[in-house]
Amino acid sequence: MKVIEKLMGTNDFEGFSTQARDHAQNPRHYGKLDPFDAHARITGPCGDTMEFWLAVREEKVDRIAFITDGCLSSRACGSMAACLAEGLPVEEAADLSQEDILEALGGIPEEAKHCALLAANTLKAACEDYRQHQKNNPEKIPSPGSLHATGAPREKQENLELENRRQLQARLAPIRHKILVLSGKGGVGKSTVAVNLAAALRFSGKRVGLLDVDIHGPSIPTLLGLEREMIQAGEEGLLPIEKDGLKVMSLGFLLRNPDDAVIWRGPIKMGVINQFLKDVEWGGLDYLIIDCPPGTGDEPLSVCQLIGTLDGAVVVTTPQKVAAVDVRKSITFCRQLKVPVLGVVENMSGFVCPQCGTLTPILRAGGGQRIAEDMQVPFLGSIPMDPQIAEACDNGQAFIQHFSDSPTAKILREVIQPVLALDARDDISHTHKLTSTKEDNIMRIAIPLVDEKLALHFGHCDRFALVDVDPKEKKIVNREDVEAPPHQPGLLPQWLADQQVNLIIAGGMGQRALGLFQQKGIQVVIGSHADTPEQLVADYLAGTLREGENLCDH
Ligand code: ADP
Repeated sequence: MKVIEKLMGTNDFEGFSTQARDHAQNPRHYGKLDPFDAHARITGPCGDTMEFWLAVREEKVDRIAFITDGCLSSRACGSMAACLAEGLPVEEAADLSQEDILEALGGIPEEAKHCALLAANTLKAACEDYRQHQKNNPEKIPSPGSLHATGAPREKQENLELENRRQLQARLAPIRHKILVLSGKGGVGKSTVAVNLAAALRFSGKRVGLLDVDIHGPSIPTLLGLEREMIQAGEEGLLPIEKDGLKVMSLGFLLRNPDDAVIWRGPIKMGVINQFLKDVEWGGLDYLIIDCPPGTGDEPLSVCQLIGTLDGAVVVTTPQKVAAVDVRKSITFCRQLKVPVLGVVENMSGFVCPQCGTLTPILRAGGGQRIAEDMQVPFLGSIPMDPQIAEACDNGQAFIQHFSDSPTAKILREVIQPVLALDARDDISHTHKLTSTKEDNIMRIAIPLVDEKLALHFGHCDRFALVDVDPKEKKIVNREDVEAPPHQPGLLPQWLADQQVNLIIAGGMGQRALGLFQQKGIQVVIGSHADTPEQLVADYLAGTLREGENLCDH
């Protein structure tokens, strides 16, 4: 542990040669191999674990892969051992020594040299595993990758895998952005951040799915008050549960006995996660937020490998110093898997007094920010420990939606900006272009709709027409209809502010809502008649839109 702390200290690469540093940062052959001919896993005296997989052709190491949960030097040593072994006859690969690996690396810190021994020993054990299989099946010369995690015959297995991948890709193809939420360990608020991230994106008018694959603690159903929901099967798969327009799917809906997952062995867990990912009928989504199992071990690795291309990861941590090592591991994990790190969120950073709203730092804050700077990833913000978050979680509500005016909700909205920016960056949908690229000289008018005309009761409309006008030219430049967010007090003002609306044309509106719009700098024209948005806007531009009595003031 001391070694890890030292290595993860302020200068991670002290004592590393350029070559070793490169292998630590971008380990070659990282991941698992399936099918494979031989496998070994060893835990070294420092507690780090390493695994090697081999596929052998004509007695030579045809393909090789490794993973480790260890420090930077473990990764460098595993990576170099794999590079040295690839293409060698199995006997020679087994003979690669600690010295060979160290020499090839050209320098790692003295106290971490045991990592090279761990790599050499694990590689040797994998080679021995291959020999052992040969001894047990003397008449059968193993072909590359003749073994599989499931033990099925090779050809059949390969076909199954191809089909599996095809199905998964077909499922996930209509999803524009897949975002991972991860943390080095449990209990830091990863699921809370995932729920609020998903709710905030929904709130911004996006089509959002929330997927909970935290197999050991699927808490999303509890956080959203969906524990009693039963999954329904649609024509093409399992239907997500909808809550306030958010599509939710959790392993928790399927694991009626929470102890089940604890006793499953690795391959069974992976099978369940795989099946689950493949079976959910999401339909088209702008975002899928994935609440990943904590840590950097087999489970999150498999989730990432199964999902394929991910658009980014949000790493959640707490301010304590001990959390630093976990964050570094999570960031390195993402880098190894080529998942862009959108940023680090520090949760439970200080306490917000429920009486006066004062923020008191309990643990030393700023750790998340320091690590983010150190690892050169964005810092997304510090979320305080807020009793209203706990209250919302206990009541099965998304905090950001139910306490949308609170200072913590404001912080959360800032946290999601880089995620929202993904959509703005490569937007193909007109709606998003509209909401994210409104120019300063364009004015956006929102009109609540029912049956294509202005809805007289503002709070109960289902859709809004967002009409962009050029006030100088007095003409409409665009119109887009968007689904209204769920009907909850205080929600619409923030939502319409997020849509960059400058003016609302309404029939009637409650006094409280009027006040809230005023606070957000949104002008409201009251008492308009039930006409089409185009007509109302044309009247407004011509200066002939009549303000009447507040038609629905409650
Ligand atoms: P994880 O997914 O990391 O295991 P959860 O998101 O399930 O953690 O959070 C654990 C508990 O901590 C939840 O009950 C939640 O109510 C509470 N919690 C998380 N973040 C905060 C916060 N900022 N303020 C108050 N309570 C929080």
